[in-house]
Amino acid sequence: MIAIDGPAGSGKSTVARAVAARLGLNHLDTGAMYRSVAFAALRDGIDPSDDTAVAALVQRLSIEVDEWVIVDGEDATEAIRGSAVSVAVSAVAQNQAVRTELVRRQRAWADEQGGGVMEGRDIGSVVLPDADVKVYLTASDSERARRRAGESGQPGHDEVVADLARRDQVDSSRAASPLVVADGAVVLDTTDRTVDEVVDAVVALL
Ligand code: C5P
Repeated sequence: MIAIDGPAGSGKSTVARAVAARLGLNHLDTGAMYRSVAFAALRDGIDPSDDTAVAALVQRLSIEVDEWVIVDGEDATEAIRGSAVSVAVSAVAQNQAVRTELVRRQRAWADEQGGGVMEGRDIGSVVLPDADVKVYLTASDSERARRRAGESGQPGHDEVVADLARRDQVDSSRAASPLVVADGAVVLDTTDRTVDEVVDAVVALL
C-alpha cells in the first residue's frame, strides 16, 4: 500500500497513476470521491454546507472511481473537474459524516486490492496509517497553478490561483482530517523534477 498526499497541483494524480502503472497496481483518486459527493449535491439542489442533507446523500450515493467517474450510473468524469464542483467540494469535505463514509469505502477498496496506490489529503494520516510507503508531495505555488490551469482548461489563470489558495487554506485549517504531513511520510518537492524522477524516488522507498 502506497499513500500519496499533498495540496492541489502538487502532482499527486499524475505521480500516483504512474507509480501504480510501474508496479502493476491499481490506483484510487480519493479527491474524485469528494468531488462526486459535491457533484451530486449540486445535481439534487442540496446546499453543499447543509451537513445533515449531505450526510444523508452520501449514504445512498453510488460512486465508482476508475478511469471514469460514475455517480449513480451517470458519467461525471468531466463535470467533477468543473469550477462549480471545485468550489462546492471544500464544504462537503469538511463534513465529518461524509469523511467517515468515504474513509470506510476507501479502506474497503484497500482490503479488496491487497496492494495499491491511494492519493488524497488524509491517506497517510487517517485512511491508511500503516501504509508501506507514505509520500507527501509539494510544489511551488506558481508551478501548482500552472499545472492546474493547463489541466482544467479553466478560463483565467487568476481564477485558478485564487481557487488553489482558497482550497489550500480550507483543507489545511479544517477541524476534520486537515491536510498534514503524516507521521513517517517522506516529503518530495516535485517543482523541478520530471514525473519519472518522482516515480523513481517513490519506488525507491519500497
Ligand atoms: O485531489 P482534489 O484536488 O481533486 O480534491 C478535491 C478536494 O477534496 C480537496 O480540495 C479536499 O477538500 C478534498 N479531499 C479531502 N480528502 C481527500 C481527498 C480530497 O478532503 N483524501
